[in-house]
Amino acid sequence: MIQLTMPLGFLGTVYREIRQALTDMGEMFDLLEQPRDVDDRPGAKAIDVTRGVVRFENVRFGYDPARPILKGVDLAVGAGESVALVGPSGSGKSTIGRLLFRFYDVGGGAITIDGQDIRDVTQDSLHAVIGVVPQDTVLFNDTIRYNIAYGRDNATDAQIEAAARAAQIHDFVLSLPEGYDTQVGERGLKLSGGEKQRVGIARTLLKDPPILLLDEATSALDSETESSIQTALRRAAEGRTVLTIAHRLSTIADADRIVVLQDGEVAEQGTHADLLARGGRYASLWARQQAGEETA
Ligand code: ADP
Ligand code: MG
Repeated sequence: MIQLTMPLGFLGTVYREIRQALTDMGEMFDLLEQPRDVDDRPGAKAIDVTRGVVRFENVRFGYDPARPILKGVDLAVGAGESVALVGPSGSGKSTIGRLLFRFYDVGGGAITIDGQDIRDVTQDSLHAVIGVVPQDTVLFNDTIRYNIAYGRDNATDAQIEAAARAAQIHDFVLSLPEGYDTQVGERGLKLSGGEKQRVGIARTLLKDPPILLLDEATSALDSETESSIQTALRRAAEGRTVLTIAHRLSTIADADRIVVLQDGEVAEQGTHADLLARGGRYASLWARQQAGEETA
């Protein structure tokens, strides 16, 4: 029998860490679902990102090889560029996010970041350079400061506040009775969906990754919340390479480039204005969504 000589506080810490690891993974699953185990190649090195150029080259993939989802996708996101991925439900948008995170390996072709095949680098280093803003940010039963700094043990109060300001949540925090020391989560103050998402954005900003993967919320937020989140995301995007998985077209009209995925391939790409002028897939998706929003 193991003797319990360690202080009980230690068990609390372990419990807390396990619970956090699980919650953090749960958060990840939202965007990326069921990761399958992919092993690091023997001798794999840490990825070296200087520019943050992401490239999908003739990428083929199917969860079941008999049913291809991506049939030769070519997609490049330049350093500091913001690209939005759109397409009908089931067209493989989230799959592209999962492949970039290397939860699965491609069936053909390659994904590179600054010229390095992501199969050749350690997954820890790959995950460290890609920040994910999930649809639903999980809060811990702790202070709002802790929740923003989560994962950055050495973050200073000034860094936390700067991230909160950029994420458009600082003024809200100051309006709380105990400011950054306010307890939030299930046993504390419950935050709205939009407030939680901004906490998630602040968390990602503190991590300061060169590449951002955004999974846009599917559920409609009220327009004031929507606009503060858009502002927060625009701030987060500054100086970073951004791939947004978009469900609603209205929020991505100002992306540098929009890529339309259809039947496992890139059907068309360009700016919002280019694509409307072309009168193709995007233009009809846009017309349909505008009509839908008007009737809603
Ligand atoms: P989108 O995000 O564009 O709606 P997804 O990338 O989620 O599309 O899914 C693309 C296709 O892959 C869909 O037909 C979906 O049913 C299928 N799919 C997604 N995840 C899995 C999985 N884990 N196992 C098997 N099929 C999957
Ligand atoms: Mg999806």
